[in-house]
This record gives sequence, structure tokens and C-alpha cells, in this order.
Amino acid sequence: MLATVRRLPIVRVPPDDAVGLVLAEPVIAGEPVPPFDNTAMDGYALRAADTAGAPLALDVVATLAAGADPAGVRVGPGQAVRIMTGAALPDDADAIVMVESTSSLDGGDRVQIETVAAAGDHIRRAGDDVRKGDAVVAPGTVLTPAHLGVLASLGATEVAVVRRARVGVFSTGDELVEGNAPLRPGQLRDSNRHALCGLVALDGFDVVDLGLVRDDKEAIADAIKGATQRCDALLTSGGVSMGDYDEVKATLSDLAADMRWMQVAIRPAKPFAFGTVESMPVFGLPGNPVSSLVSYELLARPALRQMTGHGRTDLDRPRLSAVAATPLFRRRDGKTHFARVVVDVENGRLVVRSSGAQGSHQLASMAASNGLAVLPDGDGVDAGDTVTVIVTGDLSQADR
Ligand code: AMP
Ligand code: MG
Repeated sequence: MLATVRRLPIVRVPPDDAVGLVLAEPVIAGEPVPPFDNTAMDGYALRAADTAGAPLALDVVATLAAGADPAGVRVGPGQAVRIMTGAALPDDADAIVMVESTSSLDGGDRVQIETVAAAGDHIRRAGDDVRKGDAVVAPGTVLTPAHLGVLASLGATEVAVVRRARVGVFSTGDELVEGNAPLRPGQLRDSNRHALCGLVALDGFDVVDLGLVRDDKEAIADAIKGATQRCDALLTSGGVSMGDYDEVKATLSDLAADMRWMQVAIRPAKPFAFGTVESMPVFGLPGNPVSSLVSYELLARPALRQMTGHGRTDLDRPRLSAVAATPLFRRRDGKTHFARVVVDVENGRLVVRSSGAQGSHQLASMAASNGLAVLPDGDGVDAGDTVTVIVTGDLSQADR
């Protein structure tokens, strides 16, 4: 599957639209940051040599605020310039004494300096963050808010990134009802599409909500073909197992020459279909609510990340080692189990507990979880055992 999913095109976008995207070309600094020598502290700019006999008094000859043009302001021998954090260093000053080490005299015309300064004290030099010509962000980097700040500090107006993926989502199922419409016997509400759209959004892709589609080959085919016009990838829910009305599987096999249907040896989330329609990858996720989310996490998400330029080592979430605080799921069925767990940090270690009932329709325990414990087929896990865990949500420090 990963072999057939191609990377999206490179586009140039304003940096502010690029958070979470993968940089495609290096960013070279066209100017230094900071652009000029300036003070890191509120205080007095002076000549360090003049403070050798401190405490002593100097004449205050000017005041410089952040943003003030320092042209024409000079610190002569025995003089100081009152200066605010971020203001440009005046000529001939080589140190700052912070205001806490001074006291103002004569209504501000003179200043008492209490400490001996060394040249360079509290001075931020031009380019000591980024030098002109530096390659500041390397291709392959996932742009974070801090990168956006760096790009803005350089005055960058566009960056080359792998385009943000537009991911379509539709649910299938004649039993499904949209919204709060009354339920007739045998009906239930569509939850998968809403959960999947949320995952897609959280993963930084653009969501294209394609609604609820009937268990009808023609309707499903229309929905898939319609998606090729608007989406880079498509997630479908339901209709990929062995039942009589599993029409996604049948339709995808008509539309996608490379369609593959599989029974993955994992629980939850056994059935899965994949195929490419007009170069749009289609991920046929199973209908059971937990299965659809787990197969998104394990199968679709890595492929979507590959499409958007993430490197090989950055496709799957890391698998970490944790201690089980409670026994976890026991079953011998030849499958790898992904148990919904609450992961906490206790004494600096990751600790996991079951988040509730583990049926593939029992979404409440998925909502209560922030991780999936990876349990190989076998006799299960006892309290105190080490387990592998995929952290899918935020971690909290339980013993704080
Ligand atoms: P399927 O994979 O279509 O055979 O569906 C498997 C199970 O998941 C059935 O019990 C469906 O009713 C349920 N199901 C399918 N799609 C959804 C959905 N979008 N929201 C909630 N439950 C669903
Ligand atoms: Mg169905």
C-alpha cells in the first residue's frame, strides 16, 4: 500500500498556512536575526572600562527605547545611555548594566553604577540567532509554530511545502441515520464519519465531508468518482467485510484495478480494502466504530503522512515501553491486539490501564483512552508486566 501512495505536489504558500506541512526546499536566511546589536535588558549602555572603579556615577546623555533609531547617539567616556530591552546599542557602548544594579541620580541626569561590567554584558549581537545565508530550516522538516516564527522573523513571504492533503470521508450503511433524526427499529446513528473527520482534522489534513451513502453499488461508485474531483485521498467506512451488503468492497474492486482486500491479523479492525481510483488512494475502513478508528490509525494515517511528504521514520507513531497497572485483555486467536488504554506518567515511567470494555462497537472506551497497547497473541498481560504502547493523545502526570 505504501508503495502505491504517491507524494502530493510541492506548492508555495504563505508561511502562516504551512503549519504541520513538510518543507520541500531549504529556507535560506536573507538577513540576520536579530538585525542589529541590541540590549537584552532594561538598563544603561556604557563603556565597560568606565565601571572598573564601581560603585561610581556616570552622566546620562540620552534614552533609547525599543524601535528608536540610535543614529547620532554615542556613549563617550564617563557617560551612559538609558536603554530599554530590544533597543539598538548606541555607538561606542560595549556593555549593558541592568537597571537593578543602578540607581538614578539628579532626576535622571546621572546614574550610580553599583557593579563592574565586562565588555559584551547583556548584549545580543546581530545574527547571533540566525546569520544571513544560514540554511535555517531543512527540507523534510515538519513546520511547527516555532518555525513559523523563524520564517516571520526573516520576512519570508512564501515557503515550498508538500501540499496539504484533502481527505474525503463518507460512511456507508442502510442502517445509519444522520444527526438526531428519530431512530426506527434496527437503525443507529452514523458515528464513524464524525470521528474520522475529527482524526483527519487533528492530523492536519483538510477534511472533505462526503456524507452518508447507501449500501448501493451505484451510489457508492458515484460517491467515489465524485471524490476523485475534490480529494487527494478517500476514507470510507463500512461495507468491507463478508456480509451480503458489503458493497464498498465490490464497488472498489470494479473501480480500482489494484484493489486489495485483506483480513488483517489484528483486533479490532480485521477487514480492510485499499485501491487507487484515478490516482486517488481509497482506504476502505471497516464499519465497527472502534475498528474504523484503529485501522485509520494503523493503516490509513501512515499512508496519508507518506503522501504529505513525511519521512519513513515519521509515518507511524513511536511505540514506547510501559508498565501495565492492570491485567490487559487475554485471548489466543492468532492476532495482535490493540487494547484501548489510559496512559499516564508515574514516577517518570509510562503506565497503562484498560480504558474500559474492549468490544469493537464499544466506542466509549476509545474516547476514554489516549493510547493503544500492542499485545501479541498469547496469554495476555498481568499487572506489572511491560507492554508496548502507542500514545495517541495527550499524556498526563497522574502522580502530580
Ligand atoms: P459493516 O462493516 O458495514 O459490516 O458494519 C459493521 C458494524 O458497524 C455494524 O454493526 C454497523 O451497524 C456498524 N457501523 C457501520 N458503519 C457505522 C457508522 N458509520 N457509525 C456507527 N456504526 C457503524
Ligand atoms: Mg455496512
